Amino acid sequence: DYVRLEDHTGRKSSLIPSSGVDPRRTTQHEIAMGVEGLIGNTPLIKLKALSEATGCEILGKAEFLNGAGNSPKDRVALSMINHAEEEGLIKPDRGDTIYEGTVGSTGISLAAVCRARGYKAHICMPSDVAVEKSDLLLKLGATVERVKPASIVDQDQFVNAARRRAREHTDDPNKPGRGFFADQFENTANYIAHQNTTGPEILEQTDGDLAAFIAGAGTGGTISGVALALKPRIPGLKVVLADPQGSGLYNKVKFGVMFSPTEAEGTRRRHQVDSIVEGIGVNRVTANFSAGFHLIDDAVKVSDAQAMRMARWLVEKEGLFVGASSAVNLVAAAQVAKGMERGARIVTVICDSGTRHLSKFWKEAGDVGGEGVGYSLEDILSMK
Ligand code: PMP
Repeated sequence: DYVRLEDHTGRKSSLIPSSGVDPRRTTQHEIAMGVEGLIGNTPLIKLKALSEATGCEILGKAEFLNGAGNSPKDRVALSMINHAEEEGLIKPDRGDTIYEGTVGSTGISLAAVCRARGYKAHICMPSDVAVEKSDLLLKLGATVERVKPASIVDQDQFVNAARRRAREHTDDPNKPGRGFFADQFENTANYIAHQNTTGPEILEQTDGDLAAFIAGAGTGGTISGVALALKPRIPGLKVVLADPQGSGLYNKVKFGVMFSPTEAEGTRRRHQVDSIVEGIGVNRVTANFSAGFHLIDDAVKVSDAQAMRMARWLVEKEGLFVGASSAVNLVAAAQVAKGMERGARIVTVICDSGTRHLSKFWKEAGDVGGEGVGYSLEDILSMK
């Protein structure tokens, strides 16, 4: 069901689905149907300084330009809500509430899309997440529950708390509508959103001329979905995981196990990722990571110090102010570029803006200031 819109000059827009989601929106002159119309079809940005310094063409999928919650999670929030509606699990405007456990991005996207669709959002997040994310959630009309940081085996961990709250809502006769646990880690509508949109967009934007795709994994939805879309269509494409320090996924990709039996890892370290980077790095294999795991060729481990230095370097050299996971992705992209032929094209994801990370990652990273960073890309890549 497609409709055509006209502006005051009688100029017709291209066809826009009446559902409001335009999978082919490409120019600023088209009219997006509500915030949902601003989700997807993000540009690729050539990182000119990083490309010059590595000799490869490094492109970032500018996912912070998704217009609901300003991250790739907009695609996921929309997909999870669409799937739940199709399955008859939720209905708008009867008091149904979407519950989610998230370190922020998914909650922010859900809060915006829920409001647009007539749902309420209740977000459980660890209390050590950057405060600007919970502030933003409150401004977006979500209920926010900050729970103490805990491992996934703990009942009070943020994902488990959200699951429990959804059940309590549905069981409570005094609450309107139902509670629905979105479950981004295990809900496969997550990777399907990337398989259906992010991946095909990259294919079209690069004409399939692509040597490597690099992404971190939180739920694993991005890396799995994009790998599933691109691998069958781009022979020889390398898919590489960018993993922050303290995460077990690097070992999983490299050696098949999260932790070797000889590794003296305490229980707490096994379940919590010891990194300042929010959103990526986990110590368990989720349904969304499993979906594309067999397509991941390699992994690069990135330390917090490297990510912070890269973030500052990008401001100085590119004028680009990125969040923590994007900095990890770009360190990994530069590392992968070192092993590739000159001119090879590499795509990674610029997940969100540094403004989401002012009180934590960027506070630690420090100001760039007028003096410049005083180190080179080589310095970043050679440090631990
Ligand atoms: N970056 C940020 C800022 C995130 O919040 C997330 C998701 N939690 C990711 C990257 C990773 O994406 P995915 O969940 O698709 O693996």
